[in-house]
Amino acid sequence: MVKNTVDDFWAKVDRAGENDCWPWKEGLWQNGYGRFKLNYKSIRAHRYALELVKGPPISVNLLALHECLDRRCCNPKHLYWGTHQDNMRDRRMNYKPAWNRKEIP
Ligand SMILES: [Zn+2]
Repeated sequence: MVKNTVDDFWAKVDRAGENDCWPWKEGLWQNGYGRFKLNYKSIRAHRYALELVKGPPISVNLLALHECLDRRCCNPKHLYWGTHQDNMRDRRMNYKPAWNRKEIP
């Protein structure tokens, strides 16, 4: 029996509004990221979400980074491929992504 992995994946994501956070509904890794089983291998759910929508990273060293602070979030709009340095910079500057900027007066 062939299982549609992609549909199976999105069924485990709580897809609220287009710009809202989409929390992972299933099990989590100890570090708080969503855990998804793909071909008998457990992977990070948010990384898979980004791969499905934007394609794989141009370098294996890139991380799937959150623009929001919710590690369970799997909304591809809140995710981007970046380096560890990007991650540190965003945290330092309290970086506000485009979809969130309109909330600032
Ligand atoms: Zn989010």
